[in-house]
Amino acid sequence: MKLVKIEERRASIASEIRNAYIDFSAMDVSVVKITTDVVIDGEPVVGYGFNSNGRYAQSGILRDRIIPRIEGAPAESLLDDTRENIDPSRVWTAMMKNEKPGGHGERSVAVGVIDMALWDIVAKVERRPLCAVLAQRYGRGAPDPRVFVYAAGGYYYPGKGIDELRREIAGYLERGYSTVKIKIGGRPIAEDIERIEAVGDLLDGDFGRLAVDANGRFDLATAVQYAEAIEPYGLFWYEEAGDPLDYELQSDLAGHYRPALATGENLFSMQDARNLLRYAGMRPDRDYLQMDPALSYGLVEYLRTLDVLAEHGWSPRRCIPHGGHQFALHIAAGIGLGGNESYPGIFAPFGGFADDTPVEDGYVALPDVPGIGFETKGALMDLFRRLF
Ligand code: MG
Repeated sequence: MKLVKIEERRASIASEIRNAYIDFSAMDVSVVKITTDVVIDGEPVVGYGFNSNGRYAQSGILRDRIIPRIEGAPAESLLDDTRENIDPSRVWTAMMKNEKPGGHGERSVAVGVIDMALWDIVAKVERRPLCAVLAQRYGRGAPDPRVFVYAAGGYYYPGKGIDELRREIAGYLERGYSTVKIKIGGRPIAEDIERIEAVGDLLDGDFGRLAVDANGRFDLATAVQYAEAIEPYGLFWYEEAGDPLDYELQSDLAGHYRPALATGENLFSMQDARNLLRYAGMRPDRDYLQMDPALSYGLVEYLRTLDVLAEHGWSPRRCIPHGGHQFALHIAAGIGLGGNESYPGIFAPFGGFADDTPVEDGYVALPDVPGIGFETKGALMDLFRRLF
């Protein structure tokens, strides 16, 4: 087999929402389509990939470095030992030729976009859902039949007050989510506490089903001030209080906060994740890790990260990736992670899962179709057809 064509396009996911650090008025993503010479049911096997929200399209890196390296590599060197399928780890080596270590920047996002499309191809060639392929290769034989998902929302929005927040969260609960997340740190603390109280009210006082996310906004003093204010609620987690690379802040914070902490969505390599485990005081019995394969060199790198987790005594169940995409959902089901993020109604049509698999009691099942299952999302496939 061989890869015959790799195309990249930019798609907007702009919106008026904002978190404590950025707005999303110019947010976009790279989308790739990789066509192979394998024909199944009369059609060439095609893989799709895209990056998660929060980082921008990587058109330049993809077109100038990553895609030409794949095209320039001997076709044989990208295949697995059967010669009938792609080996994403061998393509990874080709993509990263002449890239120095460290300083991961956004090339990790570009590589992640291609990696997603490669795994889509691998599973389609095997004619199985990706989660089944992963469970056999890296998991416990069979995938989890359903995956925990939580609704990440509660963004700041022009003119949005407590009433609008309550309506938004009530909508998530009606859609079948049991756990929700809201932003903090974009308003004065008293106002954020009021928002937490309002959402907790909708959850019948069960604050253990509410997570909060500061998006790296706080210095240590502010992080601790929030920690002391929210600790009595026993929230699901307190996410990314300080700068994602400030491991000392994270470690100090753990000394002030007993319930669960979460971070990792802005760590883009195995080495960065390893530093987090080494130096940030994260606690394997309660905290959560949110590295997002689509932003951090793809599943090939994520498997390395999972090995490091195991060496440090962490279960993959403590991982609930950022990003809200179907790729991470398959990884969660196949390898046995703790769950996956979800953004109902935003970052459409990239976020969300198969059209005909609703969320029930906070869990979602995976469709039984080959690959990642983008074909089960009508709006996403319409966009792919327009782009390519
Ligand atoms: Mg976050």
